[in-house]
Amino acid sequence: MSLLRIITYGHPTLRLEAKPVSEITDEIRLLAKDMIETMEEADGIGLAAPQVNKSIRMIVIGMDLIDESMQPMAFINPEIVGKSEDTELQDEGCLSVPGIREDVVRYKRIKVRFMNIDGEEVEWEAEGLLARVFQHELDHLNGVLFTDLISPFKKQLVEGQLQKLEKISV
Ligand code: ZN
Repeated sequence: MSLLRIITYGHPTLRLEAKPVSEITDEIRLLAKDMIETMEEADGIGLAAPQVNKSIRMIVIGMDLIDESMQPMAFINPEIVGKSEDTELQDEGCLSVPGIREDVVRYKRIKVRFMNIDGEEVEWEAEGLLARVFQHELDHLNGVLFTDLISPFKKQLVEGQLQKLEKISV
């Protein structure tokens, strides 16, 4: 296993629509392990493949941080197939946007469909923090960053920081 480099705000890969994973190969399994190790080393709760410069639809989540009885997991080709009407506002950060935390509105509960690392199709209902992490990481697969979703006023406040990140990202 090895640590991967996390790319930051301004890197073009973060803005791409990531490609579906067609087959779970040894390479995918290794990437999942490396992404989990990289996420843990960086003290993150989630990481999407585009953040390590792989434009494919896979994310990892530190499930152990949400439920002690669980292990960190990879989610392949995840999609949101249902969502609650109610939303909640809470602060978020991102390993690709270091130094910034801002409030983002997310659905309180979602239903997500994905393939696990063994290739089985699974459907989960998630709420609260887990629902938030899923929504944040799935956005990465569509080239969306949480700073795109904050209020225009807050966006103005962090614009200088974002521009600095943009300059050092490439
Ligand atoms: Zn992120």
